[in-house]
Amino acid sequence: MIVDRNCLFGNEALLSFLSDRIAERNAPHAYLLEGPDGSGKKTLALWLAEALNCRNEEAVPCKRCRFCRTIAAMQSPDVFWIGMLENTAKKSIGVDEIRAIAETIYLLPNDLETKVYIIPDADTMTQQAQNAFLKLLEEPPSYVLFLLLCENRYALLPTVRSRVQLLTMERFSEEVLREWAMRNCESAPRLSETKPEVISTAVRLADGSIGRLKAFLALSEKDREKHPYFEACETAGQCFDALFPEEPGPAFRTELMKIFLKRADTRDRLVRLADLLCTALRDLILCAESSGERPGELLFFNPERGIRIAGQCVRSRIWESYRDLASVRDSSDANPNVPLMQNSMMRALYLLRQ
Ligand SMILES: [Zn+2]
Repeated sequence: MIVDRNCLFGNEALLSFLSDRIAERNAPHAYLLEGPDGSGKKTLALWLAEALNCRNEEAVPCKRCRFCRTIAAMQSPDVFWIGMLENTAKKSIGVDEIRAIAETIYLLPNDLETKVYIIPDADTMTQQAQNAFLKLLEEPPSYVLFLLLCENRYALLPTVRSRVQLLTMERFSEEVLREWAMRNCESAPRLSETKPEVISTAVRLADGSIGRLKAFLALSEKDREKHPYFEACETAGQCFDALFPEEPGPAFRTELMKIFLKRADTRDRLVRLADLLCTALRDLILCAESSGERPGELLFFNPERGIRIAGQCVRSRIWESYRDLASVRDSSDANPNVPLMQNSMMRALYLLRQ
């Protein structure tokens, strides 16, 4: 039997590893798929569910049989999507969702060989939810496979992490992304003639993820300029340029003030900016804690810049700054006072220069 691994661009090593496990019928009971938005985690989860359950004798997944088709259409009674926050106003997966898994897990599958539970935003599980989940992870029935999808494995308790096998999605280099765009995005060749900076920005913002790159390049020019992520990402980058110029000077407070007044003057813009700054600070924490070794996967900075900036900060101040920014982001519903938010965020950023 052949395992057809033509489901994702790149990710060669990962797909080859998984194909072997599928062919040997030797998959563990839980995988943790880590990667940024748009890196193909859901595609990979579906492919795994199909490949493990397709009964074609020549090549799996065949994409034609009843099993493959119901799984791909997300209609199989044996493949469960848990949480699915993107369709709701909820921000985390609570203990109720995990209890719902506990209610079905011991029932034999309807028609598949492997019953699959996919948790797309596993890193949003509350601590109680994770503790409840831990019990299920300890001794699941042999026909169950859990697929936990996350952007950041460190949001999961160490006890959960130790019971799942980690699979990291490939992050593509800027050259690979650029080449991919030229071959696969209709607008790319024209843009590279007329507005090469758009491709560069998209490639930089895509941050290793083909899904994100594709989404950016599919936008019309007008929507692109208005795209809030484009804008917030640029603003966050400007904040770090102001704080850590090549030649550090004393004027960073004035520079930050200008940026905030011009580009972060509404509650929504501030919340998006606070969120991106938190992502950037998470990177700086990783860089600071890697003590000279190459840091783990960075989401905002390229490694050289992250290491350079982290090297200029006091580690405890990065944590403090992170906590303050996260608290502005998380309490903005309660207190949408724009000048107050601007001040708290600027103060949080000053900490990095202390
Ligand atoms: Zn099939």
